[in-house]
Amino acid sequence: MIRTLLFLLLIASTLFSQDSLIFVIRVDDIYSRNVTYPAGIIPFQQAVEQRGGKVTWAVMPHRLIENMNLNGNLSAELRSTIAAGHEISQHGYIHICQRCGQSSHEMYCTTQAYHYPYQDQMELIRQGMELLRDSVGTAPVSFVPPGHQADSVTFQVLLDSSFQFISTTGPTKQSIYKNLYNLAPHNEYTWQITPDQYQSRLTSALADIRAKAQTNGYYCLLLHDPFIRPAYQDSIVLRWTGELLDSVNAEYGNKVRYRTLSEAAASFRGPLSGSSEEIAIVPDEMLLLQSYPNPFNPETRIRFRTTEAGITQLSIYNLAGQEVKSILNEHLPAGWHHRNFHAAELPSGIYFALLRQNRFSTYHKILLIK
Ligand SMILES: [Zn+2]
Ligand SMILES: [Zn+2]
Repeated sequence: MIRTLLFLLLIASTLFSQDSLIFVIRVDDIYSRNVTYPAGIIPFQQAVEQRGGKVTWAVMPHRLIENMNLNGNLSAELRSTIAAGHEISQHGYIHICQRCGQSSHEMYCTTQAYHYPYQDQMELIRQGMELLRDSVGTAPVSFVPPGHQADSVTFQVLLDSSFQFISTTGPTKQSIYKNLYNLAPHNEYTWQITPDQYQSRLTSALADIRAKAQTNGYYCLLLHDPFIRPAYQDSIVLRWTGELLDSVNAEYGNKVRYRTLSEAAASFRGPLSGSSEEIAIVPDEMLLLQSYPNPFNPETRIRFRTTEAGITQLSIYNLAGQEVKSILNEHLPAGWHHRNFHAAELPSGIYFALLRQNRFSTYHKILLIK
C-alpha cells in the first residue's frame, strides 16, 4: 500500500516537473545611451518582483564609468538588485567593436570577419570583470555576447575566467563549448511594446510562451534597454510586463518557477561534471582600461587604477617605439584616475598608451583615425 502510494507520488512529481515552466527574464544593454533616466531600473524590478519573478540584467561594464553614471546611481541600483536575488550577467565590455567601431558586436568583428586573438578577448573580458567587481562587488558567472557574436576563442576565455554559463543564440540547454552551458533567449519584445501593439503582442507573447514551454521546458523573455524608451517613462513597459506575468501566473499557477539565467541553466545542467572550484580572486593590480572612445579623433580618455601611491607616468608611443607624448609624470595616490589624450597634431595610426608606476607597467593599443 505504502509502496503504491510512493509510486503514485513519484508519477505525480514526474508529471508535475514536466508541466512546470522555468521562466527567465533577461534585460540587455541597460542604460545603453547617453540620456538621463529619472525612473531607473528599480520600477521594472519591482513590477517583476510583485509577480514572483527575477531579473537577469546584462550589463556592459564600461557604462559604469561613463560620465552619466559617475554619480554612482547605477552601481547602487545594481548592488541592491543583487542583494534582492536578481543577477548581473556580463555583457561584453563596452559593446563597441575596437576594429570597425560598430556597436552591434564586440567579441567577433562581423564587418571584417575578424577573429580577435585570445589575448585581446581576455583583456576585454578581464577588464569588464574587474569593473563589475569594483563597482558592483560581484564576479559574474554568466555572459551575454554583444550582438550574439562570439567565437570559440570567446568561449575559451570565458571558461578560463571562471564563467559557467552563456546566453546566446544557437543550441540551447546544452554545453556550447566544453563546460560552457548555453541557455538561449526566446523572443524579444522591446520595440513592440507600444500603445498600438500592446494587446496583440501580449497575446502573441503568451502563445509563444505556451509553445516554448512545451518544446524547451523554459521561457527566456528578452527586453532590450526598455529604460530609454518613451514607453518606459509612460509606464507602458511596466504594465505590459506585469500583465504578461499575471497571465503566466494565472495559467501555470505554482508550476511556474522564476529563475535567474544562471539558476535556470544550472537546474538544467545539474551538478558540474568537472571541478566546481570557487571563482578565483584576482589579485589587485594596476589596471589600464580601454580608452574611450577608441578609435578616436582627436581626443580620447584614458582611465586607470593604481593600487599604491607613487610617481606615475603615462606616455604615448608610436609603432616605431618612439615616445610621441608624455601625458602624466607626477605623484598619484592609489585609486581611479583618468587623463585625456589630445592628438590633433599627430597623424592617423596605431599608438600605445604605456602606464608605469613603481614596479608595475602596462600598456594598451589605441587607434587614431582622422
Ligand atoms: Zn567590427
Ligand atoms: Zn547588447
